[in-house]
Amino acid sequence: MRLILLGAPGSGKGSQAGPLTSHFGILQISTGDMLREARAKGTEMGRLAATYMDAGQLVPDEVVIGIVEERLKNPDCEKGFILDGFPRTLVQAAALDEALGRLGITIDRVVEIRVGDEVILPRITGRRSCPQCKKPYHIQFGPPKRDLLCDTCDVPLVHRDDDTETAVVKRLEAYHKMTAPLVDYYEKQGKLLVVDGTGKVSEVTERIFKVLS
Ligand code: ADP
Ligand code: ZN
Repeated sequence: MRLILLGAPGSGKGSQAGPLTSHFGILQISTGDMLREARAKGTEMGRLAATYMDAGQLVPDEVVIGIVEERLKNPDCEKGFILDGFPRTLVQAAALDEALGRLGITIDRVVEIRVGDEVILPRITGRRSCPQCKKPYHIQFGPPKRDLLCDTCDVPLVHRDDDTETAVVKRLEAYHKMTAPLVDYYEKQGKLLVVDGTGKVSEVTERIFKVLS
């Protein structure tokens, strides 16, 4: 199974990737996580990416396409994968189709998690995540069992540098302008499935399994 999760920032892509990867036994490829890792390591690419990320802007296509192409060559992708946060532009989508074509594979399904802009800001400003296992939490809607510690890793949760109100507003703008056209792109390929992204994480998970079955 090769899936793309499409949706605005805060639509729940990262939260849904977990249950989907365990169910299908495939891995999650999150460009946001890969960029944050590069940034934490202080590589040149990471430092460049950070300036865009904190401003709520998209990292240039060639940078992101490069890391995804590298990642897809890894043998652990053979069983399948979920792309989370990629592609985010039409240029990236075309590059992905090309790269997969070279590997002789295609995307099976694209799941768009649809939410209105009004639910996004509170979701993102309250969002926290585990720096080790990357599991997402929310201070109100999905808090950890113990005060701001990851349930599994027992380490303090962190707040992303780009989860500020100003950056989120910019990210939403970028989403509508650059990423929303992908809905049409995958609709035309006959791969698009749309689910309502409002409500509890588990409710959205059920909806996704239903459209995929
Ligand atoms: P969110 O979905 O909440 O915006 P992500 O972790 O997916 O969070 O992405 C965080 C930031 O990383 C984005 O705002 C952007 O700057 C950068 N980024 C991630 N994926 C891409 C991509 N495919 N193309 C360009 N920039 C990206
Ligand atoms: Zn953890």
